[in-house]
Amino acid sequence: MIMNKYIYTALLSFILLSACKNATTSTTVVATATDTVEKDMHTLSNADSITLKHLDMDIKVDFDQKKISGKATWTIDNNNKLNNLKLDTYDLTVDSVFVNGKKVNAILDSPIKYMGSALNIPVEVGSTEVTIFYKTGKNATALQWLDPQQTHAKKYPFLYTQSESVYARSWLPCADGPGIRYTYTARVSVPKGALALMSAENPKQVNDSGIYHFKMDLPIPAYLMALAVGHIDFKAIDNRTGVYAEPGMIDKARYEFDGVGKMVNAAEKLYGPYRWGRYDMLVLPPGFPIGGMENPRLTFCTPTIIAGDRSLVSLIAHELAHSWSGNLVTNATWNDFWLNEGFTDYFERRIMESIEGKDYADMLWELGYQDLVTNVNELGKDNKDTWLKINLDGRDADDGFSDIPYEKGSHFLKLIEINVGREKFDAFLKKYFDEHAFKTINTENFLSYLNANLIKGDSTLAKKLDISAWVYGPGIPANCPRAGNVRFAKVDAQNGKFLKGTPPAQLDTTGWSSNEWQQFLRKMPDSITREQMKQLDGTFHFTQIGNSEIADLWFVMAIRAGYEPAYTAMEQFLGSVGRRKFIEPLYAAMMKTPNGKEMAKRLYAKYRMNYHPLAQASLDKEIK
Ligand SMILES: [Zn+2]
Repeated sequence: MIMNKYIYTALLSFILLSACKNATTSTTVVATATDTVEKDMHTLSNADSITLKHLDMDIKVDFDQKKISGKATWTIDNNNKLNNLKLDTYDLTVDSVFVNGKKVNAILDSPIKYMGSALNIPVEVGSTEVTIFYKTGKNATALQWLDPQQTHAKKYPFLYTQSESVYARSWLPCADGPGIRYTYTARVSVPKGALALMSAENPKQVNDSGIYHFKMDLPIPAYLMALAVGHIDFKAIDNRTGVYAEPGMIDKARYEFDGVGKMVNAAEKLYGPYRWGRYDMLVLPPGFPIGGMENPRLTFCTPTIIAGDRSLVSLIAHELAHSWSGNLVTNATWNDFWLNEGFTDYFERRIMESIEGKDYADMLWELGYQDLVTNVNELGKDNKDTWLKINLDGRDADDGFSDIPYEKGSHFLKLIEINVGREKFDAFLKKYFDEHAFKTINTENFLSYLNANLIKGDSTLAKKLDISAWVYGPGIPANCPRAGNVRFAKVDAQNGKFLKGTPPAQLDTTGWSSNEWQQFLRKMPDSITREQMKQLDGTFHFTQIGNSEIADLWFVMAIRAGYEPAYTAMEQFLGSVGRRKFIEPLYAAMMKTPNGKEMAKRLYAKYRMNYHPLAQASLDKEIK
């Protein structure tokens, strides 16, 4: 059935009402509630009626023309006896289509905003195989083609994809919704000397033919389709983890990720076996617009986490955690995105806690809480986009990407943990991952599962959690938990001393991690003077720091205070980093003053080509 928000609310009241009764009643509710299916408004495909079982791709990557071309063959099951298969495409040229080996007349609809064009393929009752010959277009949103100068080595071109949320359709005709899963095989032809990698079983070295074969035998949704092609080396960490990077980065990357094998073990100890075989990482060239992407078997990540001291690896804990929340149990639609990201943030911090201890994890929670507060203030505390369940119908699916699904989502889960006790909550999560493995779930079905398996009609508990305020209410609910403050209290004390005039050299910063330094800078007032900036820089050398999180905070402060000695390093940073989390706040800070505006325009004109099309699109709007 198709649900709208009023039905959600009605269903929720029903669930909560039943929570006030006894457990027997709530079992009946669950049977009703588990039937809820919500239409995914971001796919034009009809894969909910015609099953897409397997994809076989045979494609060629052409760097000269910046084009992928070839064929995609779908094995289908037309069990509902339809006469038309609809697939998603975006800016693809479809050359010809064959059904069971016979050429058919397929029709591409006119494009719809945010969605692309539906490809209509006539099928029959017994149709089992559909082959589409196609090529990608100039505006393929998933593809970033890097010229040699945009890579680390500056010698060879590089290509990588970013398919989440709805961009897979720009490099293959598919059913592009998170609720549709299939297995795939691929044959990829690339220029000689280059290595191709996918979200699948991967080669470890370059071969002479330039042809690579891939197999993903576990069903995944289209947003987890991934491809990278370039001059790439591999180094093992242990027998199931390893790292890929450009040759000039491989040793640094191998050093940074030394502890990832242990992270996989820690994650398994928490919530059950890692089910994907190998866990490898690919460090991309600097233009990668996001921190990391959890492509199965091969996390794609930004080089900005290579700090030289392993201080930013919690990002890997996050991408690894997605191997359970997201890749194994997947949000049904982008309206349920918090089920992917909130669970993953929670899981990430549990992994970090088991490796680094509670006081360390508490700092991650606190930094996350601060991000949540900032984001709620930016969006407005009554904005419906601050609900966990959001409504993206008719909107860009990426409008749902904010700190809300991550931070409000993870804090909601922490609240449940605190109220039911960790042991019970862990057992619940383990069972949840197990019972929903390789399946899709929406918010309503999660809530009824939560009710049936954890709340079990306990009305006092239901009242304490106040689920509706979290899921269908704006802002930060009053019962939002806060983390312990053992390590940050010490930082705040030093911050206070500095602001009262203690010279930086006399502050006690012994043993501070990247988190403590972030807190130290985040808590500096906007009114900080050039002289104070100079003092801090003289002692702590922030302008030259290799840690991207700290550098970014420092450069934003430098722009605000007009601290010019940091500008050259800031320009280098903007010219060598493409991660949106870093570059967007820096340009935004510059745009706030007349002088800064000129600087922003000049630097953006110089470095725009280094940035990903998605980063360009948002910065184009800001910098004018
Ligand atoms: Zn994530």
